[in-house]
Amino acid sequence: MTRTYLIKPVLDHKYSFITHGEGIYLYDEQGKQYIDGSSGAVTASIGHGVQEITDAMKEQSEKVSFVYRSQFSTEVAEQLAKKISQISPGDLNWSFFVNSGSEATEMAMKIAIQYWQEKGMNTKNKIISRWMSYHGMTMGALSMSGHIQRRERFELMLENYPSVSAPYYYRDVNYRTIEECDDYYAQELEKEILRVGKDHIAAFIAEPMVGAAGGALTPSNGYFQKIKSVCDEYNILFIADEVMTGLGRTGKMFGMEHFDVTPDIMAIGKGMSAGYTPMAATVVSEKVMEPIRSGSKVVMGGHTFSANPQSAATSLAVLNYIEKHHLVENSARQGAYLKEKINELAEESEIIGDVRGKGLFVGVEFVEDKLTKKSFESRLNVANKIVEANFEQGLLVYPANAGADGLTGDAVILSPPLTITMEEVDELVKRFGVALEKIE
Ligand code: PLP
Repeated sequence: MTRTYLIKPVLDHKYSFITHGEGIYLYDEQGKQYIDGSSGAVTASIGHGVQEITDAMKEQSEKVSFVYRSQFSTEVAEQLAKKISQISPGDLNWSFFVNSGSEATEMAMKIAIQYWQEKGMNTKNKIISRWMSYHGMTMGALSMSGHIQRRERFELMLENYPSVSAPYYYRDVNYRTIEECDDYYAQELEKEILRVGKDHIAAFIAEPMVGAAGGALTPSNGYFQKIKSVCDEYNILFIADEVMTGLGRTGKMFGMEHFDVTPDIMAIGKGMSAGYTPMAATVVSEKVMEPIRSGSKVVMGGHTFSANPQSAATSLAVLNYIEKHHLVENSARQGAYLKEKINELAEESEIIGDVRGKGLFVGVEFVEDKLTKKSFESRLNVANKIVEANFEQGLLVYPANAGADGLTGDAVILSPPLTITMEEVDELVKRFGVALEKIE
């Protein structure tokens, strides 16, 4: 086998080769078994090698794998859009299919801007976003992202930049109550709107729980209601980036459902096809579609593979599988159990500072000193060491930024497939504990 020329994330790292996967497990060439404790990048949410999905993929490929969306629609893409409208809250009825989470958030940004243009308000074209956030690597998505390491090289090309905080109660330096923190975050948003001018702002975007840039940072029950009412007051659309949190990951179908807030636009990806094919969507409310439908009637955007029937069939099979096997409920149940077990480890551990998250989306933040919450120095690269120690134990965990400067700190996300059983959670926690002992 030729093993050159593939640009891998770290060029001089020796990657293991995976030969196959089954359920929550992956196996490499040497026969080593890994628990996919992160579902890859919080993606493989129904586990590996599910025959119902591969059957649906085969069936569709025997009909037709590609048609161009400007020329034709397909029954399967229509069915998928209908399914998403059924499972989505409120009047989030319309789906625009893309191929990655980055495209989904970028399309959300574009649709928000177009919405105001259709209403004759052409100056409303900026997006407010938060530091400690990640919305993707394409330039529009990156411009909204508060992930410093990922922005750094391209900063000069990014027109948009984040300007408000994400809730991070664990590190509130002023020792305020959660309610006081939430009031502060809402006021900060309001100040920013007044600074930029409401007539220049199309939308506010946020992840229900911050993933890569925070390690499952979880807001209070009231945070998003306060934020949404500021958005409403100043006529600003609310975009929920559910790329990581959507489709059962947090123990509800969508993360925002924990907070009783319905967004105007929602971006989904990752778990939407559970990694079986690239598929993502921008889901748009009736409110936002109405002026477009009665105006230009053209949503400006799209990609060659948008609404690809092969991916649509895969995603439809995945969503049906999630429903049929009650995986949202299982995520809530096993997630609570996983968090309880990690909290038990945290009590014994010298370096676990915070355990957070909902459902099977559990963040663990590591600190040098639990009392002062002092972060490890970034040059120590503790998050990577933790990932590596877990890898040695046959457990995959997802590294995330968090910490005192919100840039270099050390957190990991535990986000196994939603199919995980209690016994498998026990095995995951056992491996995590052994890895932790090696680090401490
Ligand atoms: N939005 C969020 C919240 C994400 O976590 C990610 C990826 O990690 C993205 C957007 C970008 O998705 P993709 O990597 O599929 O482009």
